[in-house]
Amino acid sequence: MQPELVALLAVQEDDDAIRAVEAELAAFAPRMASLDRARQRAHDEVERTRSAIERETERYRLLEARITEHREKHERNVATLDQARKLREATAAMAQVEMARRVLAEEESELAGMARRLGEMQSALEAHRAAAAALESEQADARASVQADIDRLEATLADARRVRGGKAAGVNPNLLSRYDRIATRRKSQALYAIRGLTCGACDTSIPLQRRNALMVAGQIDVCEACGVLLYAAPDPAPVSGDDTSGNAA
Ligand SMILES: [Zn+2]
Repeated sequence: MQPELVALLAVQEDDDAIRAVEAELAAFAPRMASLDRARQRAHDEVERTRSAIERETERYRLLEARITEHREKHERNVATLDQARKLREATAAMAQVEMARRVLAEEESELAGMARRLGEMQSALEAHRAAAAALESEQADARASVQADIDRLEATLADARRVRGGKAAGVNPNLLSRYDRIATRRKSQALYAIRGLTCGACDTSIPLQRRNALMVAGQIDVCEACGVLLYAAPDPAPVSGDDTSGNAA
């Protein structure tokens, strides 16, 4: 076998291992995402309640200010009533006092309702916060374990890529870039041994002239049907799964 082919086969072997680690890493993404989603939901619940309290508190303050204003007005009306000497003046002042008292009573009952609602919202907020904190500590172990696996795989991947890079340096750059393009497109193996007289990847039979170049000259050629790189193994061993096993050359 030509040294170039040996080198490229070694690169391909590393690439197979790298793809396996990448697939393992990718499998962790949905688990992390689902932990993140649960955390986000708990956080959103807290935020929704918190901003509802903020809005309700603002309404409470406005009503409180209105009540203060109305109470002052009411006190002025009471003073007017106290000073009213004539019956007509007194009747008018009395009507005003009565009206203001009713309005104030309504507003104060509304304010009390708001205070009660705010209290309930505050309790809900505390419950949501407690739930979020509980979820956080519940997730801590799962996250740590997933992260440890991810870190370990990423370290393995970095090592494998470094080793692969060293081996790739020994392959002709043109051949390597053709190989890389095909492997990237297929997300899989790019270099196949011919199987008998056919492509090892797609089983299309190889024209005689190309077959000779592969087998006699030991060249690397492209399969016209599926586009993978082909080579002839010098010592054609039976392919696993074939019924020719046991007839090793
Ligand atoms: Zn093919």
